[in-house]
Amino acid sequence: MRREGIHKANNISSKTGRFVLYWMQASQRAVDNDALDYACEISNYLSLPLLVLFVLHGEYPSANRRSFTFMLEGLEETEKRLKERGITFLLKAGNPVDKVLEIAKNASVLVSDVGYLRHQQFWRERIAHRVESPFFVVESNVIVPVGQVSRKEEFSAATIRPKISRLLIDYPESRPVESRRLKGLGVEDFETVSLSACLKDLKFVDDVPAVSSFKGGTSQAIEMLESFLRDKIDIFCRERNDPNSDALSNMSPYLHFGQISPSYIARKITERESPCAEAYLEELIVRRELSMNFTLYNPDYDRFEGLPVWAKKTLNEHREDMREYIYSREQFESRSTHDPYWNAAQNEMALTGKMHGYMRMYWGKKILEWSESPEAALDTAVYLNDKYELDGRDPNGYAGIMWCLGKHDRAWAERKVTGKVRYMNSAGLRRKFDADGYVRRIDRLTQST
Ligand SMILES: Cc1cc2nc3c(=O)[nH]c(=O)nc-3n(C[C@H](O)[C@H](O)[C@H](O)COP(=O)(O)OP(=O)(O)OC[C@H]3O[C@@H](n4cnc5c(N)ncnc54)[C@H](O)[C@@H]3O)c2cc1C
Repeated sequence: MRREGIHKANNISSKTGRFVLYWMQASQRAVDNDALDYACEISNYLSLPLLVLFVLHGEYPSANRRSFTFMLEGLEETEKRLKERGITFLLKAGNPVDKVLEIAKNASVLVSDVGYLRHQQFWRERIAHRVESPFFVVESNVIVPVGQVSRKEEFSAATIRPKISRLLIDYPESRPVESRRLKGLGVEDFETVSLSACLKDLKFVDDVPAVSSFKGGTSQAIEMLESFLRDKIDIFCRERNDPNSDALSNMSPYLHFGQISPSYIARKITERESPCAEAYLEELIVRRELSMNFTLYNPDYDRFEGLPVWAKKTLNEHREDMREYIYSREQFESRSTHDPYWNAAQNEMALTGKMHGYMRMYWGKKILEWSESPEAALDTAVYLNDKYELDGRDPNGYAGIMWCLGKHDRAWAERKVTGKVRYMNSAGLRRKFDADGYVRRIDRLTQST
């Protein structure tokens, strides 16, 4: 466990209570979880039982059946594994701030993991302000704690890479802290919500069906990782930009819900000694943690104002340029553009819950080019990404979409509409891979579902 990732969130030094409370949100796993291990250490030290609380927030931004099904599949396994370790898991539905404060009334210590988005920061601050027990937060979803890497927003991968590398001594192995079987607390003490029942009761405003392509849970994540290590990693660096090749790890949905630890993945990748390990770790560590740096330090991470000065300037200068095509959000969502590659990419996202990484760049760039303004483009891209992608609502999603508008990139040759923002076109897709084959494959997928 990296001690640098543990932060005290308030000034309260002690409180008498019946248990130690771990509010689980970003690291939804029972293994390789520093926040859980730290809570376990405290509970052993104080000889108090450990209670893990998860608050199911039906109004979570862009929540729907697809993301909740995947998440609940994962939580079901987590609950089982916690039980095996003698730890009580409690599920509550409602507003996280209210529920955590309600349960924490009887806690000696509160521990939480860390999410880097606006609402997650807001919840933590509200709780830190009002909770009456000592409150610790533990960065358990990154390899190097984000604040330790840098105290400011980084310009690009090139500026954050050396800062991460300096701190990257190893991929700390989490040796699970044994929870002493402490008696005196069972779920019967609390009114809990059953995992299977809660999905039925939730009402979503803008719903999307669950997918069969991915099943949630730590063991599913590990199985997926093992198949990547066995069959794909050696082709990763050569074929990762070919959407027709199955060369990616598919870790993003599991990482998003914290069902697998990034340190665990990095360790396994390193042990495998593949020539592509370095390329993979660049994505998993540098790119992913750059996204977290972005959302932590830039409050406008999903708005035009959050772009770098040069990108805003060039996009402003080209606001009035004639667009060859302009589509509304509804036209994008119903895959009604003139471009078969774009429509196929949107279809892949809608059907499977995960668009190939290379197509995501093309998809976002074209939304910018075919929207009436950069702001409209951002609205559309964020809406679709968060609604359909299993890994959506994630720092990587906002950083990826903003990259399509110039974030973490440099200026390129100037063109109409997109100005100096890097441009992509369909001829480029066809040069890189069999783009028509991709369209045919997604068409077949559509017909078979
Ligand atoms: C417009 C756009 C939207 C995106 N939306 C999301 C999103 O909502 N959620 C999301 O997790 N990623 C997003 N990405 C980044 C990237 O495309 C995905 O992380 C990747 O395709 C996930 O598939 P994988 O796990 O099989 O990737 P692999 O290539 O196997 O990579 C392994 C891991 O490295 C990290 N990674 C890979 N590429 C990137 C990247 N470019 N930036 C940051 N981290 C990366 C991810 O955590 C990923 O799971 C987006 C990119 C763009 C351009």
